[in-house]
Amino acid sequence: MHATRTSSTEDVNPWQIAQEQLAQSAQRIGLSSAIHQKLAHPKRIITVSIPTQMDDGSWEVFTGYRVQHSLERGPCKGGIRYHPDVNLNEMKAMAMWMTWKSAVVNIPFGGGKGGVACDPERMSQRELERMTRRFTTELVDVIGPEKDIPAPDVYTDEQVMAWIVDTYSMNKGYMVPGVVTGKPLALGGSQGRRGATGRGCLCIIEEVLRVRNELREGLTMAVQGFGKVGSVVARLAAEKGFRVIAISDVRGAVFNAHGLDASDLLIYARENGSVAGYPEAESLPRDDLLLLECDILVPAALECAIHKGNAEQVSARIIAEVANGPTTPEAQTILEDKGIFMLPDILTNAGGVTVSYFEWVQSSQSYFWSEEEVNTNLHRIMLKAFHDVYNTAQRNSTSMRDAAMDLAVSRVAEAQRLRGIYP
Ligand code: NAD
Repeated sequence: MHATRTSSTEDVNPWQIAQEQLAQSAQRIGLSSAIHQKLAHPKRIITVSIPTQMDDGSWEVFTGYRVQHSLERGPCKGGIRYHPDVNLNEMKAMAMWMTWKSAVVNIPFGGGKGGVACDPERMSQRELERMTRRFTTELVDVIGPEKDIPAPDVYTDEQVMAWIVDTYSMNKGYMVPGVVTGKPLALGGSQGRRGATGRGCLCIIEEVLRVRNELREGLTMAVQGFGKVGSVVARLAAEKGFRVIAISDVRGAVFNAHGLDASDLLIYARENGSVAGYPEAESLPRDDLLLLECDILVPAALECAIHKGNAEQVSARIIAEVANGPTTPEAQTILEDKGIFMLPDILTNAGGVTVSYFEWVQSSQSYFWSEEEVNTNLHRIMLKAFHDVYNTAQRNSTSMRDAAMDLAVSRVAEAQRLRGIYP
């Protein structure tokens, strides 16, 4: 069961949103028209057909995309998503957002994103493997450690990354672990990558509380989405003393005013395919989680979860966007008018790309770090990024989102200015 992205009547085109965000930032920072135009266009868009034999012997032809937005500061970096709603506008927007995200944490990557329009929940492992291997083969000339490095995203995981490593390496004739990040440890993955996005999000939440002089113990949190990211946020938050009162996934939501045991809920969700029906909590209509009165709301599912149709009823004090693009621009205005403090996605979820960077460095050196080293360096980079954005917001009297964008666009523009626009 897959959720569509928004239940509002808003006609949301993520690419238009991304363009608008860039245009507004360009105006605020006085970006030259040449560099603005250059950054408004992805460097390369690849659309491929992926003929795949299904287990019953029939054939399906899936459509796959890879968008490379910018290589100004280094190779492209960004996930691969398998979802029925995958489309080119979404991929273009997310590739651009990846450029800004890498720049916010100041790591030497540009932005990329890819995906296949398919329904992975209806496909067997063998079907997913055949589709992944053909998709990789179609991309073999444009991805690679120096060009573009995919990673897991929604409904892709370490196993999918392992198939990409194998297919790419078979095409090249030698093992190339650096072609992806988020791969299994046995193939040169990094300690700490699995939990990195959630861990990074917690760093940002704790730091914002620190600068606001708030104690975290007992603060309530609701987490939308209980996948690779949401489950880590919920578990770490509970460990650190937050009271995680509600968690949802695509099939339902559960609520316990005294706090949920996220580790126990994860075991239950693995056994039952969903958090729905968890006996230690009350059940809640899935999308009501977003409207709960709580200190911190963490959208960790898909984009456009908070839209103009529900934003007015959101009752959190702080929203930490760990999903990509979970708030539409109209909703953003409503939430800001309500005085809700927004931690933007390109900052809050940058822990994943940061540890992906560490994984890429380790792959290229064949020298591996301990989990402690990874987590310490992640913490250092996330704190620096938070303060860079926070200080920019204070200095320019802007929102954290505008500050993150302005900082990122300025960094990419500076690299572009120094390189010049070829020829
Ligand atoms: P995932 O596929 O592991 O998990 C997605 C979760 O969201 C699942 O629990 C699913 O059931 C739930 N979900 C889907 N629709 C929902 C709905 N309408 N209501 C409630 N729950 C719903 O994906 P993930 O890797 O955890 O990614 C989640 C988000 O974080 C995405 O926006 C992704 O782009 C972003 N993100 C992920 C990473 C990463 O490292 N995986 C890094 C940065 C950003």
